[in-house]
This record gives sequence, structure tokens and C-alpha cells, in this order.
Amino acid sequence: MLGLVFVSYLFDSGMLGMLGLAGAMDPLAAGYYALGGAAACLGFYLALRGGWSERFQDPYLTSAQIVTASTLQLVVAWLAPQVGALLLCIIFLVFSFSALRLTLRQLVPVWAAVSLGIVAVVLLSGKPLALPAATPWQAVLSGLWVSFTVGRCAFVGLYGASVRELLGSRNRELAAAQGRLQDLASRDELTGALNRRAIMGIVSEHLERRRQGGPAFAVALLDLDHFKQVNDRHGHLVGDEVLRRFVITAARSLRGGDRMGRYGGEEFLLLIDGAIDAEAARAVAERLRQATESQAWGEVAAGLQVTMSAGLAFADGASGLEQLLQRADEALYAAKSGGRNRVCTAAEARQVTAPA
Ligand code: GH3
Ligand code: MG
Ligand code: MG
Repeated sequence: MLGLVFVSYLFDSGMLGMLGLAGAMDPLAAGYYALGGAAACLGFYLALRGGWSERFQDPYLTSAQIVTASTLQLVVAWLAPQVGALLLCIIFLVFSFSALRLTLRQLVPVWAAVSLGIVAVVLLSGKPLALPAATPWQAVLSGLWVSFTVGRCAFVGLYGASVRELLGSRNRELAAAQGRLQDLASRDELTGALNRRAIMGIVSEHLERRRQGGPAFAVALLDLDHFKQVNDRHGHLVGDEVLRRFVITAARSLRGGDRMGRYGGEEFLLLIDGAIDAEAARAVAERLRQATESQAWGEVAAGLQVTMSAGLAFADGASGLEQLLQRADEALYAAKSGGRNRVCTAAEARQVTAPA
């Protein structure tokens, strides 16, 4: 930006020099303008490059740059009021830069200070701040000056728009990356299923909604049968592959709203969405049990067979998360003691454990 500002000063100094040659103003004032512009650019370049400006809230020193640039215009306008109107034009350009960096709170004092300067110069110069057009050559230079200034204002506006566009796309990329991170943080590393924290969070949310009259749902605790034997006979790697395959199998047989997460080891927690009665929920768990049983486990290891047991519990709108899981655990225990490879409900568990 400073480079552009420098080129801008160079260009304007050249134009002022030509206006001086065309007799519109004192050429010495054009020299002051060039010197002032170069000094300002050099000063800000050193302040920014040397890191000195880092101590300020706005390390680009935008306010100071605007005040300096505007002061230069006003001083030269005061020295050479014959081209004063042209120099006032530049103040529009200077302020169009401010929109790139300044907040409203920073802008107001800068604007007030420069306004005072403008009023002072207009009042005190004693001559009209003019747009030179005494000769055709001066008129052409004046016209070009205004037109180039308008062009530069438009360029700064376009630049600002492209910066905002870039910021917008960076923000969208950031949001996407954050989404990916969140997804990673909620996944179990081995199986890619939701991890315990994530599935518990989802069940808690559903419970809260249920308490407030939301839709019915059930949970099922799933546990692979004799999984220790799988590890013992086929090795831990095969055990891991079984867990992965089980999750893929489950993903295929579940419906859109159902969610499953790894509860621990070879245990999974399944949320069965919108289960209006025991049979609806049982149908989902039963489908998963059958899909597990009928998997081609022989592809993973010769002679391998895997089954699962499930304990179902319904969210009744009154019980909390712990009670719900407790009931599912009791139902799972009933399924295990009933011979494994089956689905039991909490009600059935109570029948099993009730004294005769
Ligand atoms: P049950 O039918 O009663 O559930 O018997 P089980 O053998 O499945 O149950 P148990 O709790 O005795 O054994 C669970 C086994 O799961 C023991 C543990 O080594 C294994 N396991 C837990 N997490 C992993 C894992 O990430 N990878 C593998 N390969 N094995 C695991
Ligand atoms: Mg098990
Ligand atoms: Mg277990």
C-alpha cells in the first residue's frame, strides 16, 4: 500500500510540476509537495518496517497516515491556492483508504481534525482555492487530475471489496476446517463411529427434548458376544477389524435418525430415534443383530463367527441419563444370561431377575 501511495505522490508531483510549467502555480510548491510526499512515505516505511509501529493498536498507523497526507495537501493548498481545489480532491482519495482499516471510532477524530484543517485553510488562505483553467493546457491538466483522482478512489474501493471477498472466503474455509475438527473430535479413532462423549451428548440432548414433550426414543446397549475369544483365537488385529466391520454393518442397517457410538471396548450405544413402542425399537435392534450374525465374517478370519447381544431401554421422559443406561445395562445382562445373540428389553430383564 505504501508503495502505491508513493507512486501516487510521484504522479501528483509530476502533474503539479507540469501545472507549474503551465504557469498555474509556483513550481517551488510542486517541489515541496514532492519532498513532503517522499518524506512521509519514507517515515511510515521505516516505522512499519522497523517494527516500531507494532506497539500501536493499528500497526499500519492508518490514522497518522491519513492526517499526514491530508496535512500535506492542505499546506500546499495554502501555499498555492491556485491549485487548491485539485489538492482538496486528493483528500477524498486519502479518506477512501481509511475505509480499508479504520473503525468508526477511529475515523471520527481523524475526520474532525482534517475538517478543522480544511476550514482553516479555506478561511485563512485569503484567495479562492481554485481549479486552474486559465489556459487550455491548464484546463487539460486540471481535468486529467480530477479524472485520475476519481479513478484512484474507485481502485481503492475495488481493492477493499476484493479484501472483503478474500476475508469472506477465508472465513468459510475456517468454518469448514472447524467443522472437520469437531467431527474428528467426536469420532472414535479405531472404528470411525461416534465416540463415547459424542453419543452420550446426543442421548442427553434427546432426553432433554423428551422431558419437554419431545419425540419418543429408545437406547440399546450393544455388546459383541465372546469377543475376548475372538481376540484370543484370532489375534488383536482381527479383533480390531471385527469392531470396524461391525460399525460398517450397523451403519448400513440403521435408519437416518438413529445414531451409534462406541461406549467402550466392544460395547456400543445406539440411539433409536422416534421409537414409539417397544416393537418399533426392537425391530431396529433385531435387524442389526441379524445383520451382524449374517456378516461374511469368514472373510476377516477363517472360521470366525460374530454375534451381538442388545439391551433396550425406553426414554420415558422422567428418568435421567444414568437411569436410562442402567436399565439398558440390565436388559443387556438379561440378553447375555438368556444365551446371547438376542435382544432384550428392560421389562424382560425385570421378569428374568424377578423372584419366582
Ligand atoms: P460377553 O459375551 O460376555 O460380552 O464376553 P466378551 O468376551 O465379549 O466380554 P469381555 O468383557 O470379557 O471381553 C471384552 C474383550 O474386548 C476384552 C478386550 O480385550 C476386548 N477389547 C476391548 N477393546 C478392544 C479393542 O479396541 N480391540 C480389540 N481387538 N479388542 C478389544
Ligand atoms: Mg462382549
Ligand atoms: Mg463387554
